[in-house]
Amino acid sequence: MTTSITVAYGDGIGPEIMEATLHILKEAGADIAIETIEVGERVYNMGATSGILPTAWESLRRTKVLLKAPITTPQGKGYKSLNVTMRKTLGMYANIRPTKSYHPMVKTNHPKMDLVIVRENEEDLYAGIEHRQSEDVLQCLKLITRSGSERIIRYAFDYAVANGRKKITCMTKDNIMKLADGTFHKLFDEIAAEYPAVEKDHYIIDIGAARIASKPEIFDVIVTLNLYGDIISDIAAEVSGSVGLAGSSNIAEDFAMFEAIHGSAPDIAGKNIANPSGILQSAIMMLIHIGQPDIASKIQNAWLKTLEDGIHTGDIYRKELSKEKVGCKEFADAVVKRLGKKPSEFASVAYVKTERQATKANTAKAKAKKELVGVDLFVAWDGSLDELGAKVTALAGDGLELKTLANKGLKVWPDVDISGIHITDQCHCRFRMSEGKTTTHAAIAALMDRAQKAGLDFTKTENLYLFDGQLGFSLGQGE
Ligand code: NAD
Repeated sequence: MTTSITVAYGDGIGPEIMEATLHILKEAGADIAIETIEVGERVYNMGATSGILPTAWESLRRTKVLLKAPITTPQGKGYKSLNVTMRKTLGMYANIRPTKSYHPMVKTNHPKMDLVIVRENEEDLYAGIEHRQSEDVLQCLKLITRSGSERIIRYAFDYAVANGRKKITCMTKDNIMKLADGTFHKLFDEIAAEYPAVEKDHYIIDIGAARIASKPEIFDVIVTLNLYGDIISDIAAEVSGSVGLAGSSNIAEDFAMFEAIHGSAPDIAGKNIANPSGILQSAIMMLIHIGQPDIASKIQNAWLKTLEDGIHTGDIYRKELSKEKVGCKEFADAVVKRLGKKPSEFASVAYVKTERQATKANTAKAKAKKELVGVDLFVAWDGSLDELGAKVTALAGDGLELKTLANKGLKVWPDVDISGIHITDQCHCRFRMSEGKTTTHAAIAALMDRAQKAGLDFTKTENLYLFDGQLGFSLGQGE
């Protein structure tokens, strides 16, 4: 049965790699009906700040499958990333990024690497909640949820089981972000106990990233948070031979998007030198997803044979290994010529139809007892800390008392020698109830009222909660 899919040609090298890929799919006999949508730069330039038109959403909701070329997103200014908008709007919570080496035909120092990164795709710093709070201070909120973390971790374990993978490594920075990353790690340990047949370990992300660069063969499946996953998947693809080789899938309950892991490469756009393999690999994942594993295998075998025959695009071309340096279009023609052939050096593939991975729903848990025990009042202030301390101490009331002032998370008042410390123009003033006492929103609102009457420029508040008696906030460094 013909499957309708939506296709977006994207920006930069997008159109050329997409054309090359669709040419291969057509010649291989993929039974697909293509609906093309316009997204990215051209749409932004038409004045649609979201980068996508309503008709495109309709197509996505109808076909539920998108093959997408990369899109250009401006750096440091301008419109928000459409990639992130689509992932979040369509609920694509899991980003699966397999990377392996194609030794000896593609030069790499890591001939045995074969890993899959399962990246959380909707949360973390990609929530994109940013504020400028003072002359000096910019904030980007890192949002981690227990439910989102549990979902991606379960997905990773189910993926490992379904794909015969033996080990899962969790990567976080929970030595620093003890609440956000700490929760992810803790949930990983809890869920791992339900999968005794899968080996598990944990790396702090910095050494984890270093090990992916130096010994990627020690990893099998890696599950991690959004930003770390983005960074380490580029490292993994690059050390496998080229960032142009890896494809990915973005999975929602009822939708899937397939794309290369690389970007729109404006530096080489329009030159017919880009490697179309990343998007082709994602198209192969798509064919398996829509139930055409035979066509997927036929294309993968022809692609492996092309690599094996030394027909290489510039990014992987090496004089000593390659036979012919080709452009994007010629590479696609070479794959088409080999459709029906199998590789002899590389193992050939024979994909099978996979059932949609059913990741178990979150198990219901009793809600924790939540107690409001204080508030952090963030105040823009570039005067003396003693003066601020005195002003803010005077705001106390309803049992809320000033305990500390912190600056960039470091306790700076009272009784701290701040000589040599770089102090910025915002402090967070921590008000706590005495041990065992709770407060109310009304008491916090009254405190804010006193702050505005005292002429303080408060930029935000964060409530301090205990959950089942455990701190729901970090202590200031040195507190
Ligand atoms: P990039 O991945 O586009 O390019 C990085 C380097 O890799 C460049 O030197 C490029 O020439 C090379 N490269 C990338 N793909 C290649 C290929 N297929 N063949 C050969 N060489 C290739 O990363 P960037 O330069 O940081 O980003 C460019 C733009 O892409 C930015 O606007 C960024 O926001 C966007 N981007 C989009 C996506 C996406 O749509 N999913 C992902 C990442 C970046």
